[in-house]
Amino acid sequence: MNTLVESEPIKISDSEWEVMRVVWTKGKTDAKTINNLLSHSKGWKLATIKTLLGRLVKKDVLQTEQSGKKFVYSAKVTEEQTVRSATENIFSHICAKKVGSTIADMISEAELSQEDIDNIEDALLKKSPVTDVACNCIPGQCICKEDEMGE
Ligand SMILES: [Zn+2]
Repeated sequence: MNTLVESEPIKISDSEWEVMRVVWTKGKTDAKTINNLLSHSKGWKLATIKTLLGRLVKKDVLQTEQSGKKFVYSAKVTEEQTVRSATENIFSHICAKKVGSTIADMISEAELSQEDIDNIEDALLKKSPVTDVACNCIPGQCICKEDEMGE
């Protein structure tokens, strides 16, 4: 399942993600099944699905095997790994000092069940704070270092 290097980010487009969700749900599936499920709501043709599947194989997140006349696809990465990679990717684009307030915003915006809130509270209780979150930006990319650089 896990042939990707741990640090290698999994980068898939929004459309590719829609296809992956079907593969994760079905386990093993083929282009026609994905097409039956997605073509109506997405307005995609079978050729579009096949293109997306080809890209996903190229990106090494899908594997394919021939079964009779058709190609059967299965995932090489889990949904959890992919979501985690996307989240890490978003956080890599912001100053480390802003990650905390971004998470707080995300929590405020999200629709959450009591179970979700309990899980988040558990995660927070287990977290040990650092005295000062270090800025990881290139000077000029955030305001943290503006003061150090002097006016
Ligand atoms: Zn910064």
